[in-house]
Amino acid sequence: MSSTNTLASSRIAVLGYGSQGRAHALNLRDSGLDVVIGLRPNGPTWHKAKADGFNVAEPSEAVKGADLVAVLTPDMVQPTLYKEAIEPNIKPGAALLFAHGFNVHFKQITPRADIDVILVAPKGPGALVRSEYERGRGVPCIWAVHQDVSGHAEAKTKGYADGIGGGRAMIIKTDFKEETETDLFGEQAVLCGGASELVIKGFETLVEAGYQPEIAYYEVMHELKLIVDLFYEGGLAKMLQFVSETAQYGDYVSGPRIVDAGTKARMKEVLTDIQDGTFARNWTAEYAAGLPNYKRLKQADLDHPIEVVGAKLRAQMPWLQPSAAKAEAAPLKKVG
Ligand code: NAD
Ligand code: MG
Repeated sequence: MSSTNTLASSRIAVLGYGSQGRAHALNLRDSGLDVVIGLRPNGPTWHKAKADGFNVAEPSEAVKGADLVAVLTPDMVQPTLYKEAIEPNIKPGAALLFAHGFNVHFKQITPRADIDVILVAPKGPGALVRSEYERGRGVPCIWAVHQDVSGHAEAKTKGYADGIGGGRAMIIKTDFKEETETDLFGEQAVLCGGASELVIKGFETLVEAGYQPEIAYYEVMHELKLIVDLFYEGGLAKMLQFVSETAQYGDYVSGPRIVDAGTKARMKEVLTDIQDGTFARNWTAEYAAGLPNYKRLKQADLDHPIEVVGAKLRAQMPWLQPSAAKAEAAPLKKVG
């Protein structure tokens, strides 16, 4: 961080101490900034924040007197948190910061007109945001300004991105609409939804054809990590470089038979549902109803035969079992 961080004399309230909240708070503090944590008393992460040496208060108390309030709780609790703790207490001219634009973009939160509304989202899970910072580096961040009342909203996003280490890497300008819609599309069509369905259908195809579930599991789920790691490090080129010629030829001729123009047309339908608010409306209604479909669909995933055989096989691969230290850091490991 440069010695002239815009937020050098600001108080920052971080609401939420999960994957992103903990990493941001630790990095901001190590960058010399003044951080207070806002949490429900004795909630699941209250003691963790205390043990890390932070000043921890109820959200409404943490917001009072803060110059920047970072909202890092789960997205679905943010509208109530805003109404109850933030709106009545945030100082005029202060900044309200999000790491995901969902609630502002889909108007689940309408921020007061006298505050700045900004976004800083690291392109990585909290664990990486913290570990890269500790190594003197940073995870690239995207940033956006939704509302600039103070005239310093952009400088505040830069100060925050610097404080969490993103400024050491790269920061990319976006807007709330682009961040929200692309984030939802990525997780639905490719990362969480697309990838898990691809694995499940591949597993079912092999098992229904009479192959052993153990062999199918290794082929379509376990080995996916090797491929994804190659994508992550060097894109398609590195993946193609490290798989056999036979695998490459099979990729070229069979990949487009699986994910074809019909798949892409349905991806566009998923994107349309995101853009026109259908997904947001359905998801907020589902949450308000107590998550009946979410729970049923989640249970179906957890009960799938690939999970039964997977648990058995992973128990025989001790290198996959989290060590005590890793288990401790588990809340930092979420993505999304
Ligand atoms: P999380 O589930 O890991 O942590 C949530 C935290 O909020 C916990 O400390 C929890 O105790 C606290 N909390 C829950 N309800 C609360 C309430 N009513 N009042 C106060 N505190 C409450 O969340 P996360 O994954 O870090 O996500 C936080 C935000 O960051 C979300 O907007 C998410 O979309 C965004 N984001 C997450 C990632 C990621 O990698 N996880 C990446 C980019 C952006
Ligand atoms: Mg996401």
